[in-house]
Amino acid sequence: MSTPSEETTTDKHAGGGAVLEVDGLVVRYGSRTAVDGVAFRIARGEILGLLGPNGAGKTTTLSVIEGLRRPASGSVNVDGIDALRHPIDACSRLGVQLQSSGFQPELSIEQLLRLYAGLYGVRLTRATAREALDGVGLEQEASKRLKGLSGGQAQRFSLLIATLHDPLLLLLDEPTSGLDPQSRRSLWQRIEASRRRGGSILLTTHSMEEAQAVCDRIVIIDHGRIVATGSPAELIAAHREDPRVLAIAHGEPTLEDVFIALTGSDLRD
Ligand code: ATP
Repeated sequence: MSTPSEETTTDKHAGGGAVLEVDGLVVRYGSRTAVDGVAFRIARGEILGLLGPNGAGKTTTLSVIEGLRRPASGSVNVDGIDALRHPIDACSRLGVQLQSSGFQPELSIEQLLRLYAGLYGVRLTRATAREALDGVGLEQEASKRLKGLSGGQAQRFSLLIATLHDPLLLLLDEPTSGLDPQSRRSLWQRIEASRRRGGSILLTTHSMEEAQAVCDRIVIIDHGRIVATGSPAELIAAHREDPRVLAIAHGEPTLEDVFIALTGSDLRD
């Protein structure tokens, strides 16, 4: 575990060969600084959870990595490629889970699948397209439009699209919010499969239980700044004697106890 001051310069736990290196990232919306010197790395095959209260700057950080927003300063390297200078090259290494509203509403599920496969340069025949849909339990929905699917089905579909080209780094913004336990488990099985193929994952979640269970490492941000980094076990061990943790923990401290102790219990915007 490193101290917050070290984390604003570099995160040493990820080791060499980083798939993603974010350094000194500053993002402003007008006069408001949403991300203020964020720096972290993700190693190959690693699942990193970016945690923070509402408005902490998680989605803003992801949108810079995805090339959707330019930072005021800082750098983003994807697989050694400067993503701010070469966004198209960098983006080809990424898998991004789109919201339902990001897909063309007039196309059927199968048409969307074939469209995105074409865009990613992935060869899909009618049979392999059906097989891919079958793999996420959507074979029966092939001719439906996305708006005809349940929330869980739509999430499974967008994850299928995000992983079609076997990306080096999968970016997931609250991938399991609103999902039932079955859908959540199925989604995690797909994410695990992506990791087994050497893929890395950067995800945001408000479920501390999920983060504790699935993330190799966690970066906690608040008000645009990193307040702690480490594996879930490291974070708990480092803060278990903190009086703020002791005041809220019922028995053995959890990641949620540490998160609340570090970010405070005030409600956010
Ligand atoms: P949540 O958990 O609620 O999704 P977040 O950690 O993803 O929050 P961001 O969405 O990155 O937080 O927002 C960071 C800050 O930037 C917040 O204060 C938010 O109000 C502000 N913000 C985000 N998007 C914009 C925008 N398009 N224009 C102006 N301010 C914005």
